[in-house]
Amino acid sequence: MGPPDPILGVTEAFKRDTNPKKINLGVGAYRDDQGKPFVLPSVRKAEELMMARHMDKEYAAIHGLQEFCQASASLAFSENSSVIKEGLNATIQGISGTGSLTMGAFFLRDFFKGNKEVYMPAPTWGNHIPLFKRAGFAVKQYKYYDPKTCGLDFKGLLEDISKIPENSVILLHACAHNPTGVDPKPEQWKEMSDLIKSRKLFPFFDMAYQGFATGDIDRDAMAVRMFVDNGHRIGLAQSFAKNMGLYGERVGAFTMVCNSKDEAQRVLSQLKIIIRPTYSNPPIHGARIAQTVLGEPELREQWLKDVKGMADRIISMRTRLRDGLKKEGSTRNWQHITDQIGMFCFTGMNPKEVEKLTAEFSVYLTKDGRISVAGISSNNVDYLAHAMHQATK
Ligand code: PMP
Repeated sequence: MGPPDPILGVTEAFKRDTNPKKINLGVGAYRDDQGKPFVLPSVRKAEELMMARHMDKEYAAIHGLQEFCQASASLAFSENSSVIKEGLNATIQGISGTGSLTMGAFFLRDFFKGNKEVYMPAPTWGNHIPLFKRAGFAVKQYKYYDPKTCGLDFKGLLEDISKIPENSVILLHACAHNPTGVDPKPEQWKEMSDLIKSRKLFPFFDMAYQGFATGDIDRDAMAVRMFVDNGHRIGLAQSFAKNMGLYGERVGAFTMVCNSKDEAQRVLSQLKIIIRPTYSNPPIHGARIAQTVLGEPELREQWLKDVKGMADRIISMRTRLRDGLKKEGSTRNWQHITDQIGMFCFTGMNPKEVEKLTAEFSVYLTKDGRISVAGISSNNVDYLAHAMHQATK
């Protein structure tokens, strides 16, 4: 028997708890202020449009819906980027973020000429490690999070990256780093970009939260665009799970930015050869939703508001939690709660404090002290502040 997934185990324990005040801060899915799953109004409208069109259910191409692929790449790089204008992107529709990362990792396994070593931030999203190992890569890490400041260990990061052997792969979280909520500042990204270039590393971006961090899709794509402008050829995995709330629809994309249109076509042909025996071709419904939302001007405008609404609610819960802790009389420095960004907050609570929070207050979270801010609402934020203060004083 294999061990259960550590994050899904948190939800199982939460379900068994009979305390009416219980809170689940383990899951990485957005909840509205009533604590309920949220279907975006733009997504609902796109589905209505699709229903009215009586579309067929034929297979997509091996690489997915072409219009979706282009819309997804344009969202990441921007309509006016050289990548889009010159056709330098080889983009395939992937099975959400995870499947897109996997196809990227398989492609690099087969075609990357350098070391089969990938360097990831410490810590990183738990799935990155087995995913790249399965693709035959040795997984190593570079310093990222500083537990002392609950922020970025920028000095350690630069030191570690400067020691990575040339021609290796480096994995970067484009925005809203999971699990820490800590992102580099624009000027820090610039330094990283220059260093990564001088080390001849291949940047592989995971962008699972575009728009979700700041509420602005362009600001959240800043690092990806900066690297491309700086001359990097990158790999990019995108997910529409969070920013469109399409979790179970499994909508995502993988792009290789190439040196020429011709090279992009050749790369695409090889990606198709990988996909064909893996799952043949991707599902159509979710990609049609995303393509409709991105392509119909009215829906796109609505979607930008929807994303901003989600990001703003999360940001406001961070502020209320921090204020609540102060009101409770906590003397700890909780500034990182509002400094960090995106769905997750690395609270800095140790395993003992986490255990107390769960055992005495029925607040469920992963042992590393990570909370999903999306699970906080007007109804539970005061109780949570009280519980966190009691567990940490
Ligand atoms: N990358 C990161 C950093 C994530 O946090 C997630 C979602 N937890 C994913 C990728 C992929 O998720 P999905 O496959 O559901 O799109």
